[in-house]
Amino acid sequence: MEQKKNIKDFTLQELESYVVQNNLPKFRAGQIFEWIYKDVETFDQMTNLSKDLINKLKQDLYIGRAEIEVGLISKEDNTRKYLLKLEDGNSVECVLMEYAYGKTICISTQVGCRMDCAFCASAIGGLTRHMTSGEMLEEVMAVSRDIGERISNIVLMGTGEPFDNYKEVIKFLRTVNNQKGMNVGQRHITISTSGLVPKILEFAEEDFQCTLAISLHAADNVTRNTLMPINKKYKIEELIDACKIYIKRTNRRITFEYAMIKDINDNEESAQKLSKLIKGMLCHVNLIPINKVEEKVFEKANKASIDKFKNILENHGIEVTVRRELGSDINAACGQLRKQYGK
Ligand code: SAH
Repeated sequence: MEQKKNIKDFTLQELESYVVQNNLPKFRAGQIFEWIYKDVETFDQMTNLSKDLINKLKQDLYIGRAEIEVGLISKEDNTRKYLLKLEDGNSVECVLMEYAYGKTICISTQVGCRMDCAFCASAIGGLTRHMTSGEMLEEVMAVSRDIGERISNIVLMGTGEPFDNYKEVIKFLRTVNNQKGMNVGQRHITISTSGLVPKILEFAEEDFQCTLAISLHAADNVTRNTLMPINKKYKIEELIDACKIYIKRTNRRITFEYAMIKDINDNEESAQKLSKLIKGMLCHVNLIPINKVEEKVFEKANKASIDKFKNILENHGIEVTVRRELGSDINAACGQLRKQYGK
């Protein structure tokens, strides 16, 4: 017997092919899709379908779910941090943040990560496996179920490199954005990459109006090589060229993420180099006071150097924000919860 498939791994188009192959009218796919993203637990709850169709669905498919293994709520700012157990027993993290414009979930796209950035907790342990689009959808659904509220914004900034799992991530984006499903607006989604140049160029052609964030963290190749091994494959100049092509193609403003690390990339010279590198681009810089990871030597830059850095960029006409630190009392930073409970 063929193994049952997770229905959440189907795009609406794929569901349409499935129903047509089974000699059913195409519109049935839309009905099934709508039920799934109304978060029914069983096929029997799909009350506008025939018994026969329900039985057929049960035979071929199942409705995948994740279980909340750990849920923590920050006393400081209500940030929630979750460890979700996937069906094969692996765990992934996601974080729910409250902003004035709505609730934002930060999801993982892989179990572990192989980018091996020097300052990141997710790098410890390497890549276990890719996640499926259905598992990413379920991250949003499990948290939404837990808080009893719709989630309006999504950032793909949890564990994993989204562009290292490109096909499933694109499926996720299309499905979560579908009006018959969760209907999360493209402009309410941010995808963050460590800089996989060919995928940035491919993504530019997808015609998807989300925000692209680039984890830059350094403005020269020597420094970036020590922080992010991916830079040995795709140098800064190549990355910036890809960003320019992306901007030209999509007309979307790029966000450059820059983790402020004491004595590594937080000096005046770095700020000047960064300004020179991105001046005139349709972009925005997000300075991130780095989160201390127990196993790593890196320390957070101090406030004075962050302010100075910000000033230099602003003097060059570059838009800058300093990221607010949320959930610091619940280990909300990247990859730390999974590591802690995985021991
Ligand atoms: N792989 C993707 C997305 C996941 S990482 C990427 O690299 O963009 C999401 C963001 O968190 C990245 O900007 C990453 O560099 C940053 N990050 C990782 N570890 C961090 C830490 N200890 N402190 C602050 N930011 C960190």
